[in-house]
Amino acid sequence: MRKYFIAGNWKMHKTKAEAVALAKDVVEAVKGGPHKYMIAPSFTALDAVSQVVKNTNVLLGAQNMSTDEQGAHTGEVSVLQLKDLGVQVVILGHSERRHIYKETDEMVNKKVKLALAHGLEVILCIGELLEEREAGKAEQVCEAQTRKGLDGVSKEDLKRVTIAYEPVWAIGTGKTATPEDADAIHAYVRKIIADIYDKDAADSIIIQYGGSMKAENAQALLAKENIDGGLIGGAALKAETFAPIALCK
Ligand code: PEP
Repeated sequence: MRKYFIAGNWKMHKTKAEAVALAKDVVEAVKGGPHKYMIAPSFTALDAVSQVVKNTNVLLGAQNMSTDEQGAHTGEVSVLQLKDLGVQVVILGHSERRHIYKETDEMVNKKVKLALAHGLEVILCIGELLEEREAGKAEQVCEAQTRKGLDGVSKEDLKRVTIAYEPVWAIGTGKTATPEDADAIHAYVRKIIADIYDKDAADSIIIQYGGSMKAENAQALLAKENIDGGLIGGAALKAETFAPIALCK
């Protein structure tokens, strides 16, 4: 039986003090909640937020990491540094990383394998651009990102991977995929997982939806058979907008 995983991606928002305040509010709001939870502040607030979420039911997430363990990579943050701060989950391949910072599938795959090798959980983001959807290529794009992102990942390590389907045209735009359209891609990705691994892996993997998820549409999305939670941007920036999603039945 899959458990919903509700995760907040705070992106490049919040000072350290603001992040600590929000983390405290989130911890309070989801205390005893029925699902799995994570918040991912900016690198600059990870250390402080780590102290807030320690020994709670909220996991600490990072929004990215380097392809390399350490070395001459000015401006990058390594898996070792994340672990040192208590990070448990890392978001990889977010569309903003892929499209603004030109991360390739190969880079995303290297990061996925490095994070898993160091014991972290991974949220692997996939999703098509608007022009790709309009050209009827949504499944093809999501399949390629899934296969390439997971290349070389063992079935055992896959247990620490969550996939987040985030249609790029729905991120931060207020446009949401219909529950039916989202569920169709989730079902397709599950089929790909069955093909790469097996039915057991496909039945177990958590596939989140992301893209303007909010209290008003979360229930309908989460009611779909293949949607197992959410990766939430805008609505994760306030406890009062995150909590209703986090506590959805
Ligand atoms: C995201 O960035 O992962 C996201 C889904 O953002 P938003 O909820 O703001 O669309």
